[in-house]
Amino acid sequence: MERSELSCAMRRCPDWGMYETLFLHSKHLMVLTDGYRIIEANRAFLAFFEAGGVDVFDPGFDLSRAIKAVDKYGYIYEGYLQRSWVEHVFAAQKEDLRVAFDGPHGLSTFLVQLQHTTASETIYLATFTDVTEMMSYKGVLEEGLRTTLDEKRAAQYILRQYDAAIDVANLVSRSDLHGVITYANEALCAALHYAREELVGQHIGILFEDPSEAVCETLAWDGVLEGKAWKGVLRHIDKHRRVHYFATTIVPILDPQGSITEILSIRHEITEMVRAKEEAIETLEAKSKFFDQVSHELRTPLNAIVNFTDQALELLDEELDDEVRELLGIYLRRSFKNAEQLLALINSLLDVAKMKAGKTHYTMHEHNAVALVQDAFESCASLGRHVRFTCKAEVEAATIRCDAAKLRQVLINLISNALKFTREGFVEIRVGVRGTLCRIEVEDSGIGIPAHKIAVIFEPFEQVRDHGFGTGLGLNIVREYLQMMGMRIEVRSSEGEGSCFSITAPLINGI
Ligand code: ADP
Repeated sequence: MERSELSCAMRRCPDWGMYETLFLHSKHLMVLTDGYRIIEANRAFLAFFEAGGVDVFDPGFDLSRAIKAVDKYGYIYEGYLQRSWVEHVFAAQKEDLRVAFDGPHGLSTFLVQLQHTTASETIYLATFTDVTEMMSYKGVLEEGLRTTLDEKRAAQYILRQYDAAIDVANLVSRSDLHGVITYANEALCAALHYAREELVGQHIGILFEDPSEAVCETLAWDGVLEGKAWKGVLRHIDKHRRVHYFATTIVPILDPQGSITEILSIRHEITEMVRAKEEAIETLEAKSKFFDQVSHELRTPLNAIVNFTDQALELLDEELDDEVRELLGIYLRRSFKNAEQLLALINSLLDVAKMKAGKTHYTMHEHNAVALVQDAFESCASLGRHVRFTCKAEVEAATIRCDAAKLRQVLINLISNALKFTREGFVEIRVGVRGTLCRIEVEDSGIGIPAHKIAVIFEPFEQVRDHGFGTGLGLNIVREYLQMMGMRIEVRSSEGEGSCFSITAPLINGI
């Protein structure tokens, strides 16, 4: 059928009036078409193509060739998957399909709708709604959205990396503005020996020994709540109530409006450093105390020696009669006694210094403890004439591993102390076996040691009373030597009644 015949047929249709009105008033591009030829076209359609210099009624014009397929992203592509565009539009049913025409200002995009007409099965009313402008806006919007999304994704990626880096290197927690913990990373949980569920939901006070210390953190938050960061050292306790120190930075987390939503704490454990510092200070204090005590201990006998020899020298100018001789004797004996004390002190100091430097050599061999005890007892016999001085061996032999010379020095120290601090009564030495142990006891009925002093007499220069003799180093050496030989020492004592020092050493082969 020719286009004019079709047109006449259309005009005879009962609903043509309606189409015509629509045609006239619509700003959309409307045509009656069989898909290829234009049977009728409204003004908008004609104007669009005329502006591009195209006569749509020209027999050479083919709508199916003029029309281009547009995908849902707005891209023009070739063809309709081997279907005619009409079939394609009908197949898409309710979807708003987009097509494009070459227009006066380049490609224009349209939404297309197709309706069957009553005139013929193969004639359709096609309505093209220009969406070119809308599409360009959409494009800009989509592009904008894509960029924002990309930027957001990139920012989130970087943030996640920062987060991970902070998490790996530090102990991290977050809390709300009331101090309730909302997050604790694995490292923090591990450092404080808590499972995450045990921390999250708890008040931050759980980490402080004294809840009022937690207030310190809240106080610190006062600055933080004004948007400032807080830096300092926090002292926390773990689940087992052990103390930890953390160098901490507390920062507020803000929302885009600038309001604080959370408090972030980044910690770095410095417990070992704090302990090392404390120990270093303690060692330094102990060293300077030791130095003071040594100077004092050396000065006393030295002063005495200087004074007594000076006085003795003065006497030399006088005639050596009996009285002068006696005085000379007194001064020289005193000087000698102080020189002896000084020598003992220096020897003890050398022993202590060697011990502290770990340079004391121990020649460990198997020895019969009974024989060693009897030998020490005999060496002290001359000192023990003022008391009942006895030695009891409960067994004939007890083999122990020790450095014989060091054990002898230990025993002589204990025995001479016992004799020194006992005016009357007895000093008894016992050696025996208790199970797998050899036990050596030095008991006296002397002045005894007050209970509160028992713990300190083994420290250097500790003396219960200022009795004007001894170095205060003997028991320190005793404890150290015994420890190094794998032995133990215990003291029982009551003031005014006496003391008992007992040594235990493992027996070799139970004998
Ligand atoms: P030193 O005997 O040279 O003063 P030690 O280190 O041997 O130093 O002893 C430290 C202190 O312990 C003594 O000064 C004394 O006060 C106390 N002490 C030691 N042994 C006895 C003991 N058997 N009885 C009473 N006090 C003792």
